[in-house]
Amino acid sequence: MFGLSKGGKSGKSGKLLAADLKSEQQKFELIVNTIEDGVALLDAEGVIQLFNPGAGKISGWNCDEARGLSSRSVLKLVDNKNTPVADADDPLTKVFSTGQPVRNNTLFLKTKSEKQLPVSLNISPLIGPDGTVNAAVVVFRDVEEERAEEQRRADFISTASHEMRTPVAAIEGYLALALNNKVTTIDNRARDYLEKAHASTQHLGQLFQDLLTSAKAEDGRLSSHPVVVELGAYLEQLADDLKFAAEKKGLFMEFVVGSSRHKDASKSTGGERTIRPLYYVLVDPDRLREVVTNLFDNAVKYTDTGKVSIGLTGDDQVVQFYVRDTGPGIPSEDAPHLFQKFYRVDNSATRTIGGTGLGLFICQKIVQLYNGRIWVESELGKGSTFFINFPRLTAQQAAEKQAAEAAHQELAPINSLASS
Ligand code: ADP
Repeated sequence: MFGLSKGGKSGKSGKLLAADLKSEQQKFELIVNTIEDGVALLDAEGVIQLFNPGAGKISGWNCDEARGLSSRSVLKLVDNKNTPVADADDPLTKVFSTGQPVRNNTLFLKTKSEKQLPVSLNISPLIGPDGTVNAAVVVFRDVEEERAEEQRRADFISTASHEMRTPVAAIEGYLALALNNKVTTIDNRARDYLEKAHASTQHLGQLFQDLLTSAKAEDGRLSSHPVVVELGAYLEQLADDLKFAAEKKGLFMEFVVGSSRHKDASKSTGGERTIRPLYYVLVDPDRLREVVTNLFDNAVKYTDTGKVSIGLTGDDQVVQFYVRDTGPGIPSEDAPHLFQKFYRVDNSATRTIGGTGLGLFICQKIVQLYNGRIWVESELGKGSTFFINFPRLTAQQAAEKQAAEAAHQELAPINSLASS
């Protein structure tokens, strides 16, 4: 360590002069000692070789004390339930086993005084000439303030949208009354204005509803009661309920089960029923309905001619379903952003169609609740397909879980009697 204090002050004048920074070593030390982020250098065994003052301040460990210790005993990571992260999932282990950089924003650091601190972690491996990981650099940051700020923002949005839904519902109700022939008499011009006001109020109501749902999804307050669902029967029923909206717009609607891998098991509505595999997943059927309805509504909303298909397929591990349309498609540069909040494609094909830009964000949050994945594949001018994958339950797992659900339901009235 050389004679520069934190903040880069040096010499009698307190100013940092070029003369103070002659060697690369001095520059390196100045950066590492001044930076607010925690920086740790781990050797090939995961032992800490460098621990900067920033790391000391965040973790509560003295820099000299941490040096020479195993990174996993100093940088103890836990999840939001304070459960230690399993060896295989620990980013500090992963970087050595995979040789790939790891970023993580969801874990907590257990400080020396056992405080749980949300951190943003960035770990980069140093690969040796033989291709093995020689060392790793860990950069971490205390994000407690940022998380608290996000929480305050989410609380505000949640409260505001909840409060605003009530007057909007009242306005919508009165506008509906004003438009009702049996209640009022209005001329055509007034009807035209009121119809526009009614449509905008409905849009506003939807926006508040979506804002509320997305705020809940973000801070984990979205209610969810996962049960075993057989997706084939579930989607067939839902497709039947949704069909009307597509047909009203003159679009053909189909439900397809199976793929090339399950040719003998394919079935489409109107076709003959054949034996098909049973696709069991663990989801909340009400939440899943929101997802499918949203994807379907989008498909119908953005498609002028052609058809909308809901399809289901899968293999031993995964159940996959999709909503496909023959609409305008999505530009490839927009596709990676579609699931962000408020993102709407800015092209003439879809810009003029009303929407909140929150639907796909909410869909993704719900799909993630059940360890699923959602993505889009699209070709401009040809159409889009939104895919969702969920882990598949075997018939035996499904039966066991269903038996447990049934037992739980039978016990529920007894438990409520006992507690009353
Ligand atoms: P909204 O439809 O309310 O704007 P979403 O989050 O559901 O919000 O969709 C985000 C954007 O993605 C839409 O504004 C639209 O530009 C694009 N998009 C979604 N689904 C489709 C689709 N089936 N075909 C073309 N564009 C789509």
